[in-house]
Amino acid sequence: MARNPTDDVSQVVLLLDVNPFFWGADAERLNGSVGITFDQYFQHALMFLNGILLLNHTNKIVVIATGSSTCGFLYDSTATENISESITSKGKTKSQESRSELITQSMQEFVSKEEEAVKANPDSSKVQYSNFSGSLAMALCYIQRVLREPLPHPQPRILCLQGSPDAPYQYISVMNSIFSAQRNGIPIDACVIGNQHSAFLQQASHITGGIYMKPPQPDGLFEYLMMIFATDLFSRQFLQLPRPVGVDFRASCFCHKKTIDMGYVCSVCLSIFCKHHQTCSTCGATFSKSNLTAITGMKRKAPPS
Ligand SMILES: [Zn+2]
Ligand SMILES: [Zn+2]
Repeated sequence: MARNPTDDVSQVVLLLDVNPFFWGADAERLNGSVGITFDQYFQHALMFLNGILLLNHTNKIVVIATGSSTCGFLYDSTATENISESITSKGKTKSQESRSELITQSMQEFVSKEEEAVKANPDSSKVQYSNFSGSLAMALCYIQRVLREPLPHPQPRILCLQGSPDAPYQYISVMNSIFSAQRNGIPIDACVIGNQHSAFLQQASHITGGIYMKPPQPDGLFEYLMMIFATDLFSRQFLQLPRPVGVDFRASCFCHKKTIDMGYVCSVCLSIFCKHHQTCSTCGATFSKSNLTAITGMKRKAPPS
């Protein structure tokens, strides 16, 4: 039994990676085959969202699209709650049908805007990455608003459906968002579709107490989403959910935004650098070589059991 009426009510904020450079025609050359097409991926995500709302009629969902240079809200179930539930001839309820249509439509609008943005500002070094730091910050702002509403409010959590590789230049903003989520008790779940593991998301779920998973067979995405990521926070304490085998704790240097195994840490503000500097570019502290601390990479630390 739930202790209070909203213990098992979820506010799921889904960050959907729709980066055309990950899903587009060139993607296989850049990233290798991922075992699922964008259409399938998107359909599975839609079914999952409908599933969340069917599990508990007071559950809430928000969908945020992550593009290569922008991010934006696609759907907010609170804003469209008043659509009446009536069964249509196909057996789907009217609200399910219009919900999927609404999300598809706003996704298409988002992708065409994204296309224009990329054309207007072609910085080819960044396009293969997604603007994950932006969508994570948007999700946290949205949840802040929910948490400030009068009680009772649903239990918020973030689910990242990520395909594109981590962008080292976003390291600082992503880590700041992760610590802010931890402070507010918001778990970040991560489902990684791409070929590599995501160190950002491994750290995010480890720090915030979320679930990290890289499905071995991405074409069965819906099953993974429903069996693992649909569970509300209250039920999770009774379930044996998959645990990550290890977390990549490597950091990126603040000077070149490169992922490093070993580096220098400013003793005043804890900024990380790959080379020795006379002054810290973050806080301005000056140091001689003797009082600079060298750190070694903290790779593959197993999570506490
Ligand atoms: Zn550097
Ligand atoms: Zn410093």
